[in-house]
Amino acid sequence: MDFLSKELQELRDKGLYRNLRTITGPQESRVTIEGKEYLLFAANNYLGLANHPQVKKASLEAIERYGVGAGASRLISGTMELHSRLEERIARFKRRESAILFSSGYLANLGVITSLVGRDDVVIVDRLNHASIIDAARLSLAKLLVYPHKDMLRLERILANCQNYKKRLVVTDSIFSMNGDIAPLPEIVSLAERYGAFVMIDEAHATGVLGEKGRGAEEHFGLEGKIDIVMGTLSKAVGSLGGFVAGSRKLIEYLKNRARSFIYTTALPPGVCAASLAGLDLIENEPLYRKRLWQNVKYIRDGLLKMGFDLMGSETQIIPILIGEVEKTMEISEYLFSQGIFIPGIRPPTVPADRCRLRMSLMATHTREDLDRLLEVFGMIKRKFFQEGRWKGREKRR
Ligand code: PMP
Repeated sequence: MDFLSKELQELRDKGLYRNLRTITGPQESRVTIEGKEYLLFAANNYLGLANHPQVKKASLEAIERYGVGAGASRLISGTMELHSRLEERIARFKRRESAILFSSGYLANLGVITSLVGRDDVVIVDRLNHASIIDAARLSLAKLLVYPHKDMLRLERILANCQNYKKRLVVTDSIFSMNGDIAPLPEIVSLAERYGAFVMIDEAHATGVLGEKGRGAEEHFGLEGKIDIVMGTLSKAVGSLGGFVAGSRKLIEYLKNRARSFIYTTALPPGVCAASLAGLDLIENEPLYRKRLWQNVKYIRDGLLKMGFDLMGSETQIIPILIGEVEKTMEISEYLFSQGIFIPGIRPPTVPADRCRLRMSLMATHTREDLDRLLEVFGMIKRKFFQEGRWKGREKRR
């Protein structure tokens, strides 16, 4: 296994080696790492529900009543009443006939795409779709075609040229996970109708965030019921864990019979399902969380744009700050950390080598004081790293 050390060294040399940072204590807008407090601008826990008292209480009660593990996969003996209740709840939340749970969002994408398409079909994806969609499309053995980010002319050209495939499936993130912009869903739906394709959206980052009631991008665009397959995750704004697909009764019945990542893995623990149920209740009944999140988004976006940072067209709680080179991105991320702010640098293979960025995400629970501190540190970054000849990395390389 000599290749392991060689490949690890190569990653180190390219600045692509990854370290885990361990948080002690709960996931909040302020977290503790190695005994020191940091302002967290990195999590997908957008509404702060991962440590919400009602969510924890629901989970603890479920553990008392049902125990910890589900004991088997869903089709054997692992289906417990909380799974059924959560599936019904998701279907109602997403205004669909039915829904199916997966153990994670990643597994939901794998399950649905690999069971719906195969060798004679084509999957058409936005270039910036999440890795789980790309992995699923590859695993399905269908032809994979990629259109440039949000480029509807190219999507149309691809669709027009794909009429000889048996099925055409267009898949897009609704909020893009690394850019924070929103897919042009009305255009995608209308093109798919015109060229006879199915549409699947990944609502991982939109669930709980977009739309009046937090139902996602479908609600935001007034497209409810118009999209064939709605996938999402319970691990982000809902504060818990698990993936789902919502759609017609027939689609869900089919997935329960055919999706291998549903069939061949142990069901979610009951405590996790109870947490998701409580999280969905809070999303629907407490619009204040969403309102605060959007207020925070506006405040930070305005502040950073005024300083001249490139936010890559972000429209949402995910705000990338384009830096460029790997080395500089990681140096700024480290500098932020030294100032008590946790924002990861994003590098290849997640993004292209010249498009490295800081990926910041906001939470409803960030206070004005937190946000002002963030802007203050970015002011320092502007002076330290962006004024002519001030970036030490560049000097080092000469
Ligand atoms: N889709 C998108 C767009 C995501 O960003 C993610 C997670 N980062 C997933 C799917 C996978 O979801 P999960 O974390 O629940 O596996």
